Amino acid sequence: MASRNQQRPLRVAIVGAGIGGLMLTAALQHMDKDKKLQVQVYEAAPLLAEIGAGINLWLRSWEILRAIDLEETFVKMMDEAPTDEDRLVFQLRKSDQAEGVHLSDLKMKGGTMRFHRAELQLALMDRVNTNGCVHLDRRLVRYTEYENHVELEFHDGSLINCDILIAADGIKSSVRKQFLNSLAKGMFTGGTDPVWSGTYAYRGLLSHDAIEKEFPGHRAKASPVIHLVVYPLSNGRFTNVVAFCTDPELEGVPWNEVPPLSATHDELRSQYRGWEPEVQALLNLIQAPTKWAINNLNPLERYASHRVFLAGDAAHAMTPHQGAGAGQAIEDAYILASLLTESGVNRKNIPSVAEVYNSVRCPAANAILLASRDQGKWCELDHPRFKTVNEGDVVSKERLDRLCCDISSAWDWVWKTSAESDRQKALDMLSSQYAKDACSIM
Ligand SMILES: Cc1cc2nc3c(=O)[nH]c(=O)nc-3n(C[C@H](O)[C@H](O)[C@H](O)COP(=O)(O)OP(=O)(O)OC[C@H]3O[C@@H](n4cnc5c(N)ncnc54)[C@H](O)[C@@H]3O)c2cc1C
Repeated sequence: MASRNQQRPLRVAIVGAGIGGLMLTAALQHMDKDKKLQVQVYEAAPLLAEIGAGINLWLRSWEILRAIDLEETFVKMMDEAPTDEDRLVFQLRKSDQAEGVHLSDLKMKGGTMRFHRAELQLALMDRVNTNGCVHLDRRLVRYTEYENHVELEFHDGSLINCDILIAADGIKSSVRKQFLNSLAKGMFTGGTDPVWSGTYAYRGLLSHDAIEKEFPGHRAKASPVIHLVVYPLSNGRFTNVVAFCTDPELEGVPWNEVPPLSATHDELRSQYRGWEPEVQALLNLIQAPTKWAINNLNPLERYASHRVFLAGDAAHAMTPHQGAGAGQAIEDAYILASLLTESGVNRKNIPSVAEVYNSVRCPAANAILLASRDQGKWCELDHPRFKTVNEGDVVSKERLDRLCCDISSAWDWVWKTSAESDRQKALDMLSSQYAKDACSIM
């Protein structure tokens, strides 16, 4: 007969109600048919207020959203739902010269899905918080791991016990630091904090009407463009503009040594002097740009150990050049929820789930982290192959064609591979782990 302790639901504490934490909550709620989990989410902010900008998801994420029954929630916020057709995802363009050059139309099966961040986060919150499981204004300050549970301590001094701690507390995760420092010698060799990629991103959200007034017929209204990253959002009402500016010498500087982040309209304009008129028109409209330092983690060797798991940016914060950080948080959520809701999982064998999660998610997400770093270099022509090329230089068609092929194939994984096969692999690994555990007990 099962003891009372074994019968009670597994207490899952998720720290952070960003896209990663909320997606994980949604996935757990959907998959936990036997109600064996009790999920609570603790968010530091007193209010969920994501800064309004765009976010891009790919077909692989869409597959997961459908599997966890979020299709309807998302379709409402989309310009168009994905289909199996090839669609234009970006026009690749060389814009750093007076007359811009169209390089290629990048097409992929299903295209991309683009959302207004705040709309996305609030829709997710509405979806998961029907039972009051999301607790705002609860900043985790530390945790203590015991043999059979984890104790969480919040900024107000309150304490909570859980069976599983999942840290989805973003790039500056406080859990990650403690988690990595607590790993046994040899299990972790890198730094615990993010580093600067040397890139700033200036961001602005423009109304389509304003663009039409400034530059009638501007291509960004109809189609997404890369050199600056520009794409339409919110059923065509807005255009998201992200302008990257990099000093390659500064790559690797600790994130907390990045120079100040306030930006003026004039500073933004001066960074892109001499670029084509379509770029100037967009930048003219961004009167109060926001400026972000683009940091990333060096790949971690482990995302989980025993009862503590890292997910989303806490585990693998990456540069935005593959448009994949949130998508990877969604993949963590899918794999973790699939494993934790497996019928054989109980209080005692959670460490086996941690090992499977490491085996499946670390290589996959770390590879995207590195690919994203490379993609940024391709897009800014900051690559050994373009060593002698300066901003504004004319580059031969042949070299640009090759560049477009490289950029395009670096994105193959987003539509040519499936999240479902990773999920199946994780479940198979968990079954074999249980079989091994059973043999060692006999
Ligand atoms: C310019 C830019 C463009 C991007 N574009 C894309 C894109 O197009 N597509 C894409 O997939 N990704 C994109 N990304 C990456 C994406 O934004 C992140 O990967 C994603 O938001 C990570 O989600 P998360 O939930 O892990 O972390 P976050 O969204 O950072 O959420 C973490 C949450 O944890 C909370 N928190 C922090 N500390 C604590 C604590 N101690 N206790 C309790 N709560 C805490 C925070 O308040 C926050 O709500 C972009 C990033 C940038 C910077």
